[in-house]
Amino acid sequence: RSKRRGRGQVTVYTREIAQEMQHATLLEQALRNAIINDAVDVHFQPIVNLKNETVLGFEALARWIDPELGFVSPAVFVPLAEERGFIDTLSETLLRKAAEAALSWPRETFLSFNLSSAQLTDPATASSILAILGRIGFDPHRLVLEITETAVVTSADTAHCIIAELRRAGVRIALDDFGTGQSSLGRLRDFAFDKVKIDRAFVSRLASDPASEHIVRAIVAMCEGLQLQVVAEGIEEVTEVKILKALGCSIGQGYFYGRPADSAATLAYLKERNVELAAAD
Ligand code: C2E
Ligand code: MG
Ligand code: MG
Ligand code: MG
Repeated sequence: RSKRRGRGQVTVYTREIAQEMQHATLLEQALRNAIINDAVDVHFQPIVNLKNETVLGFEALARWIDPELGFVSPAVFVPLAEERGFIDTLSETLLRKAAEAALSWPRETFLSFNLSSAQLTDPATASSILAILGRIGFDPHRLVLEITETAVVTSADTAHCIIAELRRAGVRIALDDFGTGQSSLGRLRDFAFDKVKIDRAFVSRLASDPASEHIVRAIVAMCEGLQLQVVAEGIEEVTEVKILKALGCSIGQGYFYGRPADSAATLAYLKERNVELAAAD
């Protein structure tokens, strides 16, 4: 194939790859340093009861602003940490920070934390998570771990064991980005989940595309039958709230209710709502 394209193009092609690799290595170094220097932060986005707007919990979202590279999306640096083999270090730092912040929240609120698919191939993940919670004194019953369909497909047996161990300790499991993965509906039965998060793609099309409405209605009905909680992601408009409520979905998150914010702003958000915070002890 390279012969037909001619020499020149092959050279350009390899140079592009070389540049990409160089950039990835630059990012990797910067990210490793940021972890060491405690420069990777966690923000929190409220998850609310759509009927009365009470705050049920928050999803932790990793944030990193490099002095030179600027804002780098977690959709970029989380997969990079996975590829380069330090997702466990990154994730431990993030969970510690998130759980420490969540200690100040009302005790009945939960912390939702994203687990990367690579972590579900590592048998040490469950005990490592529980050890962090133990050290901080964060009740595992208040933790929800968000995992994606890919994670469950790639290493099914190990993932099974990790999930089982965590659930025995009281941790709940949410299937994130539901509807976008390549797994079959049967996964929902094979794996013990507590919640399903409907991907933003369906929510954002609710008002304009009748097909999305049918899909969401079907997901809600299925989850009801399986006794799984349903959470709608990416709610931006009041119209979406109305449709979701009509479809029987009663929990959601999105810019309409609050953007991800740092721990201080999150406390202020709770105080504004007159939510009683946990007493410091
Ligand atoms: P996710 O877990 O599905 O998180 C939801 C994403 O949607 C977040 O993007 C959030 O900021 C964004 N979002 C929330 N509400 C709205 C809305 O109303 N409109 C729009 N347009 N977007 C909304 P973010 O923070 O950029 O994170 C992207 C992805 O990176 C996450 O998707 C998750 O897969 C991953 N990620 C983020 N933090 C972590 C982490 O601490 N650990 C791991 N393993 N992955 C993380
Ligand atoms: Mg998530
Ligand atoms: Mg999601
Ligand atoms: Mg996602």
